[in-house]
Amino acid sequence: MRLVRCRFGGRISTGVLEGGVIRVLQGTFFEAPVPTGEEIPVDDVRLLAPVLPSKIIGVGLNYASHAKEFGSGDLPQAPPLFLKPSTSVIGPGDPIPLHPASEQVDFEGELAVVIGRLAHRVGRPEEAARSILGYMCGNDVTLRDLQRRDDQWTRAKGFDGAAPLGPWIETEIQAHDLQIETRVNGETRQSSRTSDMVFGPVALVSYVAQFMTLLPGDVILTGTPAGVGPLVPGDEVEVEIEGIGVLANRAVAG
Ligand code: MG
Repeated sequence: MRLVRCRFGGRISTGVLEGGVIRVLQGTFFEAPVPTGEEIPVDDVRLLAPVLPSKIIGVGLNYASHAKEFGSGDLPQAPPLFLKPSTSVIGPGDPIPLHPASEQVDFEGELAVVIGRLAHRVGRPEEAARSILGYMCGNDVTLRDLQRRDDQWTRAKGFDGAAPLGPWIETEIQAHDLQIETRVNGETRQSSRTSDMVFGPVALVSYVAQFMTLLPGDVILTGTPAGVGPLVPGDEVEVEIEGIGVLANRAVAG
C-alpha cells in the first residue's frame, strides 16, 4: 500500500495511492484511518512529505563503501546517531536550498524508515519490526564543509530543506535487500543495495528506541552508500529505491 499526503483544492489530505488514483482517508495513517469515499487523480494533486515527524534520526557510516570513501574504512561497533529537526523536512518536488554559508552541499540518497506506533525499548526484533509502518526514499542533504568544521552536525545536517522525504510510504515491502540508486541530472552517482547496510532497519529501530522513544511518524534515515557529491543550482537529484519509487528534488541557490 502506498500512503500519501497531498494538497488538493486548498486542503491537505492523506490517502492511499493505487492505479493513479488517491483514495482519501479520514484521519492520520496511524489511527486506523477510514476511507471517505472521495477519489482524486494523483495528477491533480501536489504530493507533500508523507509524514511530519517529531524527529528524524540519522545514522552515520552505515554502508561499508561510504565508510571507506569517508574515513578509515573501519566500521562502527554501534550505529553513530544524529538528529535532524522536523523543520528540515521538504517533500517531493520541493527545491533543495543550497545554503549560502556552505560551499559544498552534498546529496546522500538513503532508505527512510517510518515509525507507525510508539516504540520504547523494543528489544525483540519482532517487536521492533511491528513498530515500522513502512519505507520511503530520503536524502540526507549535508553542508559538507560545515560538517567538517563543526564538532557536531546540527547546522550541517539540520538546516531548512536538509531532509527531502517521499514520494510516499510503501507499507508492503521487505527492506533488507533493495536496489538503491541516486542520480544527478539523470547520471547515476550512487548505486548499492540495502543488504550492504551494517545495521539493518529493524536493528536500527531497536537500537534507537533504547535511548529515545520513537513516536508515530518519526523517521530513521539509514545511512548512505558511496558516491555522495556536491550539488550546484539547477541540479535535479533523484533517489530511487526498488519497490518504493523515485524522490526528485531540484537544487536552487539558497
Ligand atoms: Mg547520511
